[in-house]
Amino acid sequence: MQRLADAYDVAFFDLDGVIYLGPEPVDGAAAALAELRASGVRVAFVTNNAAPTAASVAKKLTKLGFPNDQDELITSAQAAAHALEERLHPGSMVLVCGTHNLVNLIRQAGLNTTESAEDDPVAVIMGYDPEMTWPRLDEAALALQRGATWFATNPDLTRPTNRGLVPGLGSMINAVGECVPGQRPEMFGKPYQPLFEEMLRRTEAEHPIFVGDRLDTDIEGARVADMDSLFVLSGSHGKQRLVEAVPAERPTYLGWDVGALLAPARVGHLEGGAARCGNIAASVTNGSVTLSGDTVELSAQLDALWATCLLTWETPGLDVTGALAALDLLP
Ligand SMILES: [Mg+2]
Repeated sequence: MQRLADAYDVAFFDLDGVIYLGPEPVDGAAAALAELRASGVRVAFVTNNAAPTAASVAKKLTKLGFPNDQDELITSAQAAAHALEERLHPGSMVLVCGTHNLVNLIRQAGLNTTESAEDDPVAVIMGYDPEMTWPRLDEAALALQRGATWFATNPDLTRPTNRGLVPGLGSMINAVGECVPGQRPEMFGKPYQPLFEEMLRRTEAEHPIFVGDRLDTDIEGARVADMDSLFVLSGSHGKQRLVEAVPAERPTYLGWDVGALLAPARVGHLEGGAARCGNIAASVTNGSVTLSGDTVELSAQLDALWATCLLTWETPGLDVTGALAALDLLP
């Protein structure tokens, strides 16, 4: 049996919504990763969160049942430090608005760091810091008004926690941005390319696949990097969002969770105004998508969703309400 993963040398995994959900591992993900490793596919973990060190994320993964090598962790803070090293002269003064982890990585990249606009920084880099204070944002805003170049690790406006949403780095960026109208930072995390470049540089992957739960960051970034992608339904985005995906956000493959890498690839095709995937056909009746075939099983519902996507992406404006409502096992 040819498994989806067999076509690739490295599988990159987004973390939240793919490997774990907040404090809990995604069901079955640990066993799937162990099996992947055993079959010779290399794995690497990718996160937009610039706050924790790679070592602490590696430790969390181990605790959750994902033994790993710290070198398999690729963070937006690492990508940012590498990118700044390329963009700035050695020894340049950089105002860091982020955690100690980001400060240390920037220093290791041969740059000097400060928290004060009075030190005439040539650049400001912002990264998520759960202990960010208002005076530090003030210094960033002042440095930008004096002409420093603006960088940030990632654009996420909110951060999901087990108690609800809290403001993410994007919200801190917007607060500072009010002081420098018209300016936006250059970003390094998903969907921007420096993080993907870091992934390829670090692993020397030749045929990688990226596994993610967000279409606008994981999948869009993988597409720009010319990387195949597997979109999984274990995290943020569900069936409705997938059907509505713009061309830049459409994944190569659809799966329930990371276990899809160990099964044959789900492929569909368009034929005579209908889309087929597995034993399911999606066709159009009076402007609505209708499904035929038995959709009791989860795998058949995934086939049906994929057929619905192929049809809807080809012919925008179709009504998918009834078709999606029938796929009651899918979020
Ligand atoms: Mg995610």
